[in-house]
Amino acid sequence: MMSSVTRRSIVAAGATLALPRALRAQAFFDTDVVIVGAGPAGLGAARACAREGKRFVMLEARDRIGGRVFTDGSLGAPYDAGAFYIHWADRNPWRPIANELGVSVREENSLPSGAWLSFENGVPVERSARRQQYAELSKRFDTDLGEVPDVSFVQRVADRPELLQGARGLARMAVGDEPDRISALDYARLWDGDDFIVPEGYGALVQRFGAAFPVKLSTPVTHIRWDGQGVVVESPAGRLTARTVIVTVPVGVLAAGSIRFTPELPALTQEGLGGLAMGALTKIGLRFEGTRFGLPANSNLWDEISGVGGINFECWPFDRDLIVAVFGGDFARSVLAKGEQGAVETMLERLSAMLGPQVRAAFKGASVNGWATDPYAMGCYSHARPGEAGARAKLAQPVGDRIWFAGEATAVGDGDFGAAMTAGGAFLAGEAAVRGMRL
Ligand SMILES: Cc1cc2nc3c(=O)[nH]c(=O)nc-3n(C[C@H](O)[C@H](O)[C@H](O)COP(=O)(O)OP(=O)(O)OC[C@H]3O[C@@H](n4cnc5c(N)ncnc54)[C@H](O)[C@@H]3O)c2cc1C
Repeated sequence: MMSSVTRRSIVAAGATLALPRALRAQAFFDTDVVIVGAGPAGLGAARACAREGKRFVMLEARDRIGGRVFTDGSLGAPYDAGAFYIHWADRNPWRPIANELGVSVREENSLPSGAWLSFENGVPVERSARRQQYAELSKRFDTDLGEVPDVSFVQRVADRPELLQGARGLARMAVGDEPDRISALDYARLWDGDDFIVPEGYGALVQRFGAAFPVKLSTPVTHIRWDGQGVVVESPAGRLTARTVIVTVPVGVLAAGSIRFTPELPALTQEGLGGLAMGALTKIGLRFEGTRFGLPANSNLWDEISGVGGINFECWPFDRDLIVAVFGGDFARSVLAKGEQGAVETMLERLSAMLGPQVRAAFKGASVNGWATDPYAMGCYSHARPGEAGARAKLAQPVGDRIWFAGEATAVGDGDFGAAMTAGGAFLAGEAAVRGMRL
């Protein structure tokens, strides 16, 4: 068959070949980098691309940016439904970003502290025994204080059964999961430091920062092909070709298979994914009017429910008319399984048992942020399973020199994964992915 190649197209092809490598690639691919997800990691990658002059396209499944850093304003008074603390603020990139944008941040302990009350099954109890346990526990989960083996939280305190109750609380409230499912070593590696807070909202800060970057919203990526040159990224908006892709979606979303890869991801990446799991830390905002039940601003009510777990009710944060219920583990999963109305009803029952019948009279509305049932999160943040403390390093290995998994799960920091689980770490991971590219 006569070729349809004309003299003109041959000249054009010749001209492309004569271009330098970088320009040739520009002509061949729609863009240099596709960034999947516009949470902190995606935004960290976007800023790094912009600074290095790389072309990028950012695709986000939700109709907003920020991912699991989200300031919920639906109750009239804002609260952070996801990330709240700028952890280890001395090296967290969000602190200088806040300064640059003129967003006020404060040291956590600069806020006036309210009451701290503990209840067990609705009955007030002394807090001091619990505090003592946490002090003991923190020694067992700190690599600076000795070797921490890659065993579960439960095994880590096996020789001190009196610490088990505290280990359960730590696992559920700090990691969001049950203590037999979490690697003590992975947890012990997390960085320490001062926590800062953002009165306007951590989510509001991230939104403000992200407004500088172009993002295609409501565009869930469904398929990434890497069987040819570069990558092809598919979404309802169509196909995009790029030299590389940075995938910042949570590991829960990856594990659910929401994004198909062709060919399948290599064994090392899959091992990494298999070694990680997502916790279920949940926040429910509750609005009240007319009374504060005698509690000053920034009070905390700890509600221990025997054999099940506990809820921390954060009362009147920043002097706002809100109580934010925070809870994790299987208890959170079982509450979310009741649906939004059922979940709110459970919170009102628990509060009424502690504060009395005026709770229902003053209740004005609620918003449920069930990250564990959210298809674009599938959990609160990642943790390694017992024996899998090497999982983050496996997932962080780039695939075929063109797919990077970057996000809180691979929050590499100084190479020790101590920045994992956090919004600051996610930002660093996004930046590190761009730095690691040979474009
Ligand atoms: C209740 C709770 C409390 C927390 N508290 C803190 C805290 O105090 N301090 C702290 O530092 N961190 C905290 N975190 C963790 C913090 O929110 C995360 O570590 C951080 O958001 C991770 O950023 P990321 O960019 O890796 O992922 P994400 O923030 O989840 O961003 C990923 C983005 O990918 C998008 N996405 C998902 N699937 C697709 C798809 N198929 N196609 C396109 N886009 C997709 C998502 O919508 C999302 O916007 C908390 C989290 C929760 C849930």
